[in-house]
Amino acid sequence: MSVNDLSSPQAMNKDTCPDCGASVVGGRAGCQALFDEIAAQALGDLKYAAVHPLAFDAYCMQHVDSYGVSAKSYAAHLTRLCCGLKFSGDPTIYAAIQKWLNGAVEIEKPVVLSYRGRLTVVDVRAARNVEEHNQRVREWAESVWEAYSSQHDLARTWIEAALTAKDKKSQQRNKHRIRSHHGDKGNR
Ligand SMILES: [Zn+2]
Repeated sequence: MSVNDLSSPQAMNKDTCPDCGASVVGGRAGCQALFDEIAAQALGDLKYAAVHPLAFDAYCMQHVDSYGVSAKSYAAHLTRLCCGLKFSGDPTIYAAIQKWLNGAVEIEKPVVLSYRGRLTVVDVRAARNVEEHNQRVREWAESVWEAYSSQHDLARTWIEAALTAKDKKSQQRNKHRIRSHHGDKGNR
């Protein structure tokens, strides 16, 4: 509790997240804490929740060493990021991706890139209101997507595969279960 604490190495030290390059106290753990705050905000406020899928996938693709270890999880976040930005977050596509990856798919994880975008969760967390937050999430996600330009074709190929797989399955289902019941899910 002395004035010296203010100039202690801990107080002055700005660490760097090794995954996304963000300048944040605590490095990777500090970066995660910032993202957890954003996730909590999205849980508590619908206005923040709207852009959260995009924020989540942007964060995951900047931290693939934690969130994209398997080929499937990597594919999930890359294709969802593509869907969020290039297909206006089409819920049909998000659902198709999930269904596709829940099944037995043969995919190969591409090479992990070291440059993952110019913006980070730190830029988003600095927003002063919800409009600014949502705008920054978008810019952040765009910057991550741009960094992955060498894998854009792969992402689109995977989305195509997901949509095709879904079609095949629903065609089969329709053939076998026409009017058998009103679906697997409730009204929600
Ligand atoms: Zn980070």
